[in-house]
Amino acid sequence: MTDERRVPPPVGVDPSRASIARVYDAALGGKDNYEIDREVLAQVAKVAPEVNDLARSNRKFLVRACRFLATKGGITQFLDCGSGLPTAENTHQIVQRVDQGNRVVYVDNDPVVISHGKALLVENDRTHFADADIFTPADVLGNDVVREHIDFTEPLALLQVGTLHHYTPDNGAELMKEYVDALPSGSYVAIAHFFNPETDELAQLAQRMEDVFLHSPMGSGRFRTADEIRAFFPGLELMPPNPEKPGDLELCDLWWPTGPTLRPLNQVERCIVGAVGRKP
Ligand code: SAM
Repeated sequence: MTDERRVPPPVGVDPSRASIARVYDAALGGKDNYEIDREVLAQVAKVAPEVNDLARSNRKFLVRACRFLATKGGITQFLDCGSGLPTAENTHQIVQRVDQGNRVVYVDNDPVVISHGKALLVENDRTHFADADIFTPADVLGNDVVREHIDFTEPLALLQVGTLHHYTPDNGAELMKEYVDALPSGSYVAIAHFFNPETDELAQLAQRMEDVFLHSPMGSGRFRTADEIRAFFPGLELMPPNPEKPGDLELCDLWWPTGPTLRPLNQVERCIVGAVGRKP
């Protein structure tokens, strides 16, 4: 579809600059994106034709992790850092289907998410939206909407799904520690992250995708190693990703899948992992 047939950009949005939320929306087949966003995916597709599977695998992990947290985890409040634009299954819909009383606070700072995503995401009085920088934990933890609707004396789930790979500095573990320190015992953290599997072939692919993302008009997208991603769960017990494995990271598509895997995962699907950790 051409941009002319799309809704014009909201006031204050520069359609000549790619945004993480809109590139992700484009990868998921949404309509809230511009040519510049699709161009980022086209550039990465030259080195990884299945690039959109990064977004699909990430989103499917989010859905299953939220369902797990609301059912088995008994979690009733969710702090969703980097909500993204509304899509088919949003966090509040997933967890409020389990229990209508479950509370969700979405946090994002993208102007398009704020302008119309916010209106669509906040559809009841148990769902709220905070405009804050998720890579400055004090900004989120001290945010008035967050403080009003999330009770930090009761277990909660902190979601960083598809976000931390857009944090390019090397001190992401310290950033996550600030969040984890603020969580009460029994809380959970869910993360999905671009992954460098460190095998000859896939390490090269991950490196090539990272190079293109970092030099694209979006400017972020790091593929970290397993140890680098594990460091984002400081002091947390990782949940087993399937009945046979002890707690650890797992490829997003293999983290408690909804059924048997009927075809081999492609190379891109092998470059994104997820995990859920619990604070003892
Ligand atoms: N969590 C959703 C999911 O997994 O489907 C959306 C992931 S999307 C790839 C990342 C989101 O993080 C985007 O909506 C983007 O605007 C948001 N984001 C990126 N950097 C941010 C920042 N510094 N502060 C707040 N939000 C940010």
